[in-house]
Amino acid sequence: MKKTGLISKSAYIRGLQCPKSLYLYKNNYADREKPSPELLERFRKGNDFGALAWQLFPGGMDMSPKMQYPGVLLVAADRVKQILLQYHDIILYEAAFCHQPCVCIMDIAVRSEGLLYAYEVKSSVNISSTYLNDAAYQYYVMSKAGFAPVQMNIVHLKEGADLNELLHVEDMRVTDVTRQVLDLQSDVEEHVRQLLSALQTEDTLLIPRGEQCEFPYHCDFVSYCTRQEKKIKITP
Ligand code: SF4
Repeated sequence: MKKTGLISKSAYIRGLQCPKSLYLYKNNYADREKPSPELLERFRKGNDFGALAWQLFPGGMDMSPKMQYPGVLLVAADRVKQILLQYHDIILYEAAFCHQPCVCIMDIAVRSEGLLYAYEVKSSVNISSTYLNDAAYQYYVMSKAGFAPVQMNIVHLKEGADLNELLHVEDMRVTDVTRQVLDLQSDVEEHVRQLLSALQTEDTLLIPRGEQCEFPYHCDFVSYCTRQEKKIKITP
């Protein structure tokens, strides 16, 4: 049986877009296209926006795992677990949760009088279906880990706010997506099962390019898949 490693939130979203992309990410990482400077800049602005969101809930503990290696994530998740078992009122930033092989990092987790509130930060105005899938996966992992939030929220840009300008907490909006996320829980369970199974077989590599290659994101294996498909066509 092949090792699948941990399934992070971004791996889950990648796999939802295309299981082959997840397979390649796990097995042919070096064949990815390098991120463009524009994409790197978008990531940087997104990270800045995430850090600004901490100011909505000041005084929390930064739990960011120092690296994204599985062993580090598991230790980080265990630390979060121990803290949540100990404190009924606490704010955690970048808190890891794990229900093997699924892992997620919640941008902001607020425990108040024993109840847990989760806040995922997204640096755009609209809440897309991908963001809801993303939040649904996090809810899934947190609840399976024994820490189901009573409320799942998305922190995003207010209408009219511009990510390219200097932003303040007043430019942020919090939207409760608990109902949508709960409705997606059985889908998440099924998708996780399908992705784990797709990671077990090389048949996943037979998935051809299609509309999924650009939606919801440009897949970073487009060049690789294009080359592979050409090779297959010229092979007698
Ligand atoms: S390029 Fe298309 S077919 Fe290839 S892995 Fe990406 S999404 Fe899948």
